[in-house]
Amino acid sequence: MTITLTKEMQQMKEMIGHFVEREVEPYAIQIEEEDAIPQHLVDIAKDLGLFGISIPEQYGGIGLNAVGKAIVLEQLGRTHNGFVSLISAHTGIGSTGLVKLASEHLKAKYLPDMAAGTKIAAFALSEPGAGSDATNLATSAEKKGDYWVMNGTKHFITNGPIADVFTVFALTDKDKGAKGGISAFLVERDFPGLTVGKKDKKMGLRGSYTSQVIFEDCIIPEENVIGEVGMGYISALTILGEGRVGLAARAVGSCGKLIELSAKYAKERIQFNKPIADNQAIQWMLADMATETEAARALTMMAAQKIDEGKKVIKEASMAKLFASDVFNRVADKAVQIHGGMGYMAEYPVERFYRDARITKIYEGTNEIQRLIIARNVLEEC
Ligand SMILES: Cc1cc2nc3c(=O)[nH]c(=O)nc-3n(C[C@H](O)[C@H](O)[C@H](O)COP(=O)(O)OP(=O)(O)OC[C@H]3O[C@@H](n4cnc5c(N)ncnc54)[C@H](O)[C@@H]3O)c2cc1C
Repeated sequence: MTITLTKEMQQMKEMIGHFVEREVEPYAIQIEEEDAIPQHLVDIAKDLGLFGISIPEQYGGIGLNAVGKAIVLEQLGRTHNGFVSLISAHTGIGSTGLVKLASEHLKAKYLPDMAAGTKIAAFALSEPGAGSDATNLATSAEKKGDYWVMNGTKHFITNGPIADVFTVFALTDKDKGAKGGISAFLVERDFPGLTVGKKDKKMGLRGSYTSQVIFEDCIIPEENVIGEVGMGYISALTILGEGRVGLAARAVGSCGKLIELSAKYAKERIQFNKPIADNQAIQWMLADMATETEAARALTMMAAQKIDEGKKVIKEASMAKLFASDVFNRVADKAVQIHGGMGYMAEYPVERFYRDARITKIYEGTNEIQRLIIARNVLEEC
């Protein structure tokens, strides 16, 4: 598959490559130790327009298509995954509902600030009782005059502690459930009745915060429904489909970085009076890492191209997410192995990538759920 980049896209790719290598990567250890992203990095990301990559130009964003976004996210995936998570949750699952499904009024009201990064976005679907089974929502919203009144608790919400706007899914008709009874809402952090829980303690993704988001008689204006009332489950699938391609692109970027780090280390590390790269065992690991990464990239770009062609992409998005996240975990494991004991040390980036790889098999739908989606589509098609 050949993707020909425009001059502008090539320049953007290089600019982001420099940003992650020269600006972000030197702070990676600090982010790990402090579990916080230095504000100046967020400010540079805003200046580069990274918070607006998926937002149309008319609302102040860069308005990249899906292939463009995948290229940018692959570049970002080369550095600290926690830092990237802040941006990708905002530009991906946090923004897609508004960009693709919301009324003109909501777009004009919220997207310019989101594009500038002055309002941070989050996506709130998961609940303590509704993870893989996202149809089993307990959060409900009841229409009262010109307002909706929302009650319930979301959990594990990326950007939860820092978000200004949330795309929230709630039951609006218990009898219909996922078939016409779930709706999506744009909820501002300051709406009365919304509170955010404390930051979760996690295995990785340091600097990226997740938390509960709690709604207690939260008052939401009628106009803040995203898309049609009752169509929220379909909206969630659309948003997650695109998000999964972005996640796959980030995973491919991380794999690319791990291959470079591993090849460099293998050439420099001397054992038995020769570089460990001279051993076929090491070469085979590098060969598998490179081959699988190229395959993951091809699958990811194919899914992104299909989105740009306006085609149904549920199956391909799941394939890209499933394969790229599995590859990321295998590549990270081999990278640690090639680095030997050094790969287990926090001062080496492979240790961080190894921990950060793990979540990619779980969030935005576990890999078991991706297999269910793919199999359902295959059975329907054949
Ligand atoms: C760091 C982090 C960030 C997150 N960010 C967000 C966010 O921004 N917004 C949001 O809404 N959610 C977010 N999530 C939630 C995430 O999407 C869920 O954790 C995920 O969908 C899995 O749900 P669960 O944790 O309830 O696992 P469960 O659904 O309880 O699954 C447990 C295990 O059972 C398996 N399983 C379940 N059902 C089946 C089945 N039918 N067949 C086979 N296997 C099955 C699963 O694959 C998994 O292995 C985040 C989670 C984490 C950890």
